Amino acid sequence: MAAWKSLQNGSLEGISRVPDLDASKLTITLANSLKPMPAPESLVFGSVSTDHMLVVSFDPSTGWSAPEIKPYAPLSLDPMSSCFQYCTSVFEGMKAYIGPDGKARLFRPEKNMARLARSAGRCALPPFNENAVLTLIKRLVSVEKRWIPALEGYSLYIRPTIIGTRAALGLAPSDHALLYVLVTPVGPFFRQTPAKPVSLLAVSDSVRAWPGGTGGHKLGLNYTPGLLPQRVAAKKGYDQILWVLDDVVSEAGVMNVFVVIKREAGDGVDVVTPELDGTILPGVTRMSVMELLQKRGTQVAERKVTMTELKALSAQRRLSEVFLMGTAIIVASVGRIGLEGGEGDLVLPGPTPVADAMKKSLLEIQEGRVEFEDWSVICDDD
Ligand SMILES: *Cc1c(COP(=O)(O)O)cnc(C)c1O
Repeated sequence: MAAWKSLQNGSLEGISRVPDLDASKLTITLANSLKPMPAPESLVFGSVSTDHMLVVSFDPSTGWSAPEIKPYAPLSLDPMSSCFQYCTSVFEGMKAYIGPDGKARLFRPEKNMARLARSAGRCALPPFNENAVLTLIKRLVSVEKRWIPALEGYSLYIRPTIIGTRAALGLAPSDHALLYVLVTPVGPFFRQTPAKPVSLLAVSDSVRAWPGGTGGHKLGLNYTPGLLPQRVAAKKGYDQILWVLDDVVSEAGVMNVFVVIKREAGDGVDVVTPELDGTILPGVTRMSVMELLQKRGTQVAERKVTMTELKALSAQRRLSEVFLMGTAIIVASVGRIGLEGGEGDLVLPGPTPVADAMKKSLLEIQEGRVEFEDWSVICDDD
């Protein structure tokens, strides 16, 4: 435990004296010809590449290289690279929006940078200057600004990634790395209005994250265990998996879960979300929803939520809302939860006032229509 805790603080032995990532060394090489823009309505999440990407590499003897923004192109990597063999791969998910002032904005990006550094530390990947990476992401967004559809609910999804590129099969921390950032235009995750409620299938025979594991970090390897169960759930007619470990609810697919409970006395509701016990990814959206609710006078309780409790609340007609959140979907309400062992579905008939209010508040802050604290950060000065 202590060993990787110190790695998380970026104190990687032996490589702390090489040059850190320096945004002022950025070179920009623009593409000779620009790609045609697809019609926004035709966008499928994460499938369109833009004209440029950002690339920086780490070598243990020379440190972080001069960052480059250059034409989007395949990477060339040694087949022995650590990322292919030992899954040294971490990433972030962020979005850039166009505000009413025509400026590109990021949402609480320093939270993503801190989480990226924590994820890299957990994989024993080299530390980096978080502010420098954020500066570079703002430059990339400014260069790719024409790709942000200026339509409500549309944005540019940003995927900062760090992979281990140590080219050797001997199992060891990767002392070489590549940090790259790509962007892709995205539309609303759910196109119908009002959005169709999501159906979940409770799954406890497959496990996404376990105590002492890596579920609290954004590592590529966390997503593999969900691929097959997700396909099985889809075949049974459910949109997503509800991950349950020993009766305890953790997340749904790759989204954080909130539950709205009617008080027994009938005087309002309580909102709860699973506590960050190491199996839950600490979402920026989760944190923001908690803070927005608190501002409105609703304290969210972070505690264990069990399937036994959800079933009991449903039977007492006190299970008011279950909703999911993450950068990609923002907020989505759950309509039903398929129970294991042929017990049928828990049905949430609606309405969903808490989820609706949170979705609206988040979107208007993200799109710069409402200023709230320093959550919306402008990218460009033009
Ligand atoms: C990224 C992610 C989330 C959502 O995090 P946000 O910062 O809100 O986008 C939730 N759960 C998992 C497992 C994730 O990977």
